[in-house]
Amino acid sequence: MKKICNFCGNKNFRERYVQYIYKHDDQFLVVNNVPCEECEYCGEQYFKADVLKKIEKDFGDIYLSGKRAKKEIKVPVEEFVEI
Ligand SMILES: [Zn+2]
Repeated sequence: MKKICNFCGNKNFRERYVQYIYKHDDQFLVVNNVPCEECEYCGEQYFKADVLKKIEKDFGDIYLSGKRAKKEIKVPVEEFVEI
C-alpha cells in the first residue's frame, strides 16, 4: 500500500480494530471493533469510506427507523464551567 499520513508524512500503517464514536446533532452511536489503519508514528486513524457509510446507515436505522442497537449505555454529561 502506498499511502502517506496527512499529518506526519509517515508511510507505515498498522491495521487495528477500534471504537468509533459517531455523533450527529447531539445523538451518538458507539461502534466497537471498527477496522481502520493507524499511522505507526502519530497514531492518526484512517477509516475506509464504505466503513463510515455503514456506520452512518446504522445510525439512521437506529435513530430514524427504530432499530434496536445491540446494547445501550448511559453517558454522563457536564458543562465545563460547572466542574
Ligand atoms: Zn502520522
